[in-house]
Amino acid sequence: MAEKWSLGRALRGMFVKETIDENTWDDLETALITADFGPDIAEALIEDMREKVARFQTEDPKDLKRMLVEALEDRFAKFDSTLKLTERPAVVLVVGVNGVGKTTTIGKFANFLKRYGRSIVVGAADTFRAAAVEQLATWAERGGAQIVRPEREGQDPASVAYQTIEYAKRTGTEIVLVDTAGRLHTKAGLMDELEKVRRVIEKQAPISEVLLVLDATTGQNGVMQAEAFLEHAGVTGLVITKLDGSAKGGFVLAVQERTGIPVKLIGEGEGIGDISGFTPSAFAASLVG
Ligand code: GDP
Repeated sequence: MAEKWSLGRALRGMFVKETIDENTWDDLETALITADFGPDIAEALIEDMREKVARFQTEDPKDLKRMLVEALEDRFAKFDSTLKLTERPAVVLVVGVNGVGKTTTIGKFANFLKRYGRSIVVGAADTFRAAAVEQLATWAERGGAQIVRPEREGQDPASVAYQTIEYAKRTGTEIVLVDTAGRLHTKAGLMDELEKVRRVIEKQAPISEVLLVLDATTGQNGVMQAEAFLEHAGVTGLVITKLDGSAKGGFVLAVQERTGIPVKLIGEGEGIGDISGFTPSAFAASLVG
């Protein structure tokens, strides 16, 4: 995984020192806060490690590395990061504020599922801008998915979602990814629209996942922007994008603990293959570097 966002560089100096002293804890705290864990988690992690250092009576900073990986793994693993896609069709709503990487994520996710042999259709239920539909169509094609487009600009998003699920049922397509609007300036309208999309879908098929896409580079501000989705959209999983361009890997843990919703996918680049499922142990290890 890209070193850019791992804590590795910040911590390397610390792990090769002779002994653990007060500076070690200060440096560790700074590194954790810089990586966007937030002060509360940083403090809790340090307390946990101080306690372990005392219990195991170690003075070797190398032990800290293993302890940190374990502490992170434990915290990550409190959440169930498995995608629930067993229904047929499995309907996934993808929500989030414009610009976070929603369209790209849908293409990458389709490609990811395709590699597991699944068939996918994408529903272009963000019907407001024709250009957005075209961009989604390009990504769907790249990802090896079919697409159901609106028949005209501004068509009722719920009716596009309806037609997409009809298509999946008719053709036996296994997974439906529904794109939704993310224009922030019409928050109330947007949530009403989303509720209607959900209502219409639920008459046809259960919704397997509602994935909220968040941009790691926007950190806590991004979460605040997305609060309306967290409140109203029945989010079941988070997708954290742009982890490649960011030194903010701690955001993944911070956002999971703050929202109480598991991270299920991570985006690490602009290419079609730059997405992966979330595995706590692998992520903790790569984060510490
Ligand atoms: P949308 O408005 O939410 O649909 O966002 P887009 O999918 O159009 O993405 C917005 C920008 O973010 C584009 O330039 C994407 O290439 C870029 N982007 C999306 N995901 C990632 C990622 O994981 N890493 C990087 N570096 N860029 C990304």
